[in-house]
Amino acid sequence: MSVTVRVPAKVNVQLAVGPPRADGFHDLATVFLAVGLHDEVTATPADALRITCSGPDAAQVPLDASNLAARAARLLADRHGRAPEVHLHIAKDIPVAGGMAGGSADAAGALLACDALWGTRTPRSELPELCAELGSDVPFSLLGGAALGQGRGERLTPLDVGGTFHWVFAVADGGLSTPAVYRAFDRLAADRTVPHPEPSAALIDALRTGDVHALAAHIGNDLQPAALSLRPSLADTLAAGTAAGALAALVSGSGPTCAFLAADASSAAKVAEALATSGTCRTTRLAPSPTPGATLL
Ligand code: ATP
Repeated sequence: MSVTVRVPAKVNVQLAVGPPRADGFHDLATVFLAVGLHDEVTATPADALRITCSGPDAAQVPLDASNLAARAARLLADRHGRAPEVHLHIAKDIPVAGGMAGGSADAAGALLACDALWGTRTPRSELPELCAELGSDVPFSLLGGAALGQGRGERLTPLDVGGTFHWVFAVADGGLSTPAVYRAFDRLAADRTVPHPEPSAALIDALRTGDVHALAAHIGNDLQPAALSLRPSLADTLAAGTAAGALAALVSGSGPTCAFLAADASSAAKVAEALATSGTCRTTRLAPSPTPGATLL
């Protein structure tokens, strides 16, 4: 018997970052959107905890106790006073260290998959708290759709989305470390007062009405200058997508994946084609949004 859970990637259409807190994290006002790129986590009975991974980026995924899926299995096992005996296989399609919450997706997927395999029946209302212990983005990977994230991103308010938005993702060679991007943000902000981050009402309204032009006008990522300072070539990627007709271009989360919002599916295909031949990224992916969170298959 085995259990498979499908989990989406995310893009932050708003990422407002506040000053560093005493615990080292930053307060955020972020709007998460789940996008149609997925990992699948399959849990199978085993004598001990074991992780395997397949997919184009599999070589970059740690298979030891540091894997977020392994940490999720241990956390759930501890919670229920049992041994984390499970083989977790990750079929990875979400770019690794790309600012699309791939590791967080696997953590949410592993939690749901192990809970079903072990019959531990954790109440659905308790899962977000377990997810938050694993990482700031993990509760959203569980929830999916669209949500406002506050605190360090783990305090979620679901948002309505009134249509389908079409995205192109330009995947870079190599990843960027999220902590390194936040350190660069702090360096760049050293000589100014960083305001408390506030949700954008105009952006939330654009999502609710499904207005792609309004969404494009209000999209933003405070981490973008920091990501560009560490990877200046991303400016060329953003420019190539904009020149090809994207309505908005931004670094996804902490990068280095760049996200392009297109007017419709056919415009997205054109942007993807132009990016693929631009020489400014490793590969491109098309994905609609929103999409559901972690789902048992
Ligand atoms: P975020 O957008 O949440 O900041 P990210 O998409 O930039 O995350 P991840 O793909 O989650 O980055 O990977 C970040 C690092 O986490 C990787 O470099 C890898 O070493 C480690 N990692 C641990 N578990 C996983 C996993 N299951 N999948 C991918 N990376 C993992």
